Amino acid sequence: MTVSVVLFTSDLRLHDNPVLRAALHDAESVVPLFVHDDGVRGTGFAVPNRRAFLADCLADLDAGLRKRGGRLVVRSGDVADQVREVVAATGAARVHVAGGVSRYALRREERLRGALAATGCELVTHDAVITAVTPGELLPSGGSRVDHYAVFTPYFRRWTAAGVRDFLAAPRKVPVAEVASEPLLPRTEISGVSPGVDAGGESAGRERLRAWLAGGVDGYEDGHDDLAADVTSRLSPHLHFGTLSAAEIIHGANREGSSGARAFIRQLAWRDFHHQVLAARPETADQDYRPRGDRWRTDGEEVAAWREGRTGYPFVDAAMRQLRHEGWMHNRGRMVVASFLTKTLYTDWRVGARHFLSLLVDGDIANNQLNWQWAAGTGTDTRPNRVLNPVVQGKRFDPGGRYVRRWVPELAGVEDRYIHEPWRLQGPDRGGIDYPDPIVDLAEGRARFERARGA
Ligand code: FAD
Repeated sequence: MTVSVVLFTSDLRLHDNPVLRAALHDAESVVPLFVHDDGVRGTGFAVPNRRAFLADCLADLDAGLRKRGGRLVVRSGDVADQVREVVAATGAARVHVAGGVSRYALRREERLRGALAATGCELVTHDAVITAVTPGELLPSGGSRVDHYAVFTPYFRRWTAAGVRDFLAAPRKVPVAEVASEPLLPRTEISGVSPGVDAGGESAGRERLRAWLAGGVDGYEDGHDDLAADVTSRLSPHLHFGTLSAAEIIHGANREGSSGARAFIRQLAWRDFHHQVLAARPETADQDYRPRGDRWRTDGEEVAAWREGRTGYPFVDAAMRQLRHEGWMHNRGRMVVASFLTKTLYTDWRVGARHFLSLLVDGDIANNQLNWQWAAGTGTDTRPNRVLNPVVQGKRFDPGGRYVRRWVPELAGVEDRYIHEPWRLQGPDRGGIDYPDPIVDLAEGRARFERARGA
């Protein structure tokens, strides 16, 4: 009997999965394999919030495979060793895997190729699995030395014209070859998980997508920046783990056809944009895309206050507490807290990126590191010295203070007009509010940043 291995990575789904489809096409049975890779565990990337979501994803994938006559094979250890063992045990002729873009993914691919070289088993990588459009597929004109788009708008134009591949239905049957597997680890056995982390898995993702397309997406253009209304899709963890495919989401939104759906699709293009930058410049995971000669400050106490959501700026603190509680933060919140850390406190973006990655369920090297660089003005941003004022942003995007009150209950009783600047409360009005004074003066912070940048 011919066997192919499907190595699941950031594509933990049965619907619209070109990797699974190809494996089923070229063999009589498959090994649907997931490896808890020492290479990931060693980097500290496997934090409790993402591990919890992953546990749900694997349980759901296993359940979906069982309904189709198969099951998931789970192993732990070095990914290349584990794949080689599975290939030796089953005589598999091919290993199929999604093409990745991070340094880790590229190294994994290289190591798999090395491990399989002597076995006669072929490694097949698949494009447009993790992103809608494959990184490197769209290139600006300008000769062979131009290997990615550095500006979003022309990229978006090409991306829109390129379109996305057709949707692939989930297979009806998945015959699985016999090979040893470990038991699944239930989410409940993972400690240190934030209380508000969403349920993971393809079924939960499909239900969220269905509800979003039926009810939320049309209001996206007008509502996406209203933090209290919370009308973004919250599909980012599903995109990160690949429980939903970007292509399927785009097809679904295209069918809606509203201006909200178009605005939402544009955000998915930002995701592809950052992936193609990282694919071409893997070093930007920790090095400045455009160095600005920064000599960042290292103030432990101010950064600790930022992490804990007690900077004295309610909008910043609300967002940082949302992150700690849910393992997710609204995009506008991410932009404001990142500007506050890198510009107002003039602290290295890597410090903030690391903190985000320690909590975000959607924590993703391409999106996180490059958005942090965008916020710090070391990335592709065309206005690198822009500073977002958290009071102005709060008044604009949370005018009634509902978002702040939700996450900073100390301020629950504060009138709307003071909610974003409670330090203006005087005398007895201030009594009983246990909330810190601002840790930094915004104008001083801005002036320090502008001096440093020579802006
Ligand atoms: P929606 O508004 O519903 O957007 C739909 C999808 O589009 C998102 O799920 C996401 O995949 C994509 N998207 C939206 N905005 C962006 C963007 N600016 N860049 C790239 N893709 C985008 N996103 C991550 O997925 N992982 C991260 O680690 C991450 N870190 C970030 C760090 C900073 C400092 C900033 C400013 C943004 C970061 N983002 C990250 C981007 C964005 O904030 C999130 O994708 C978004 O908030 C997720 O919520 P949603 O699914 O409801 O988004």
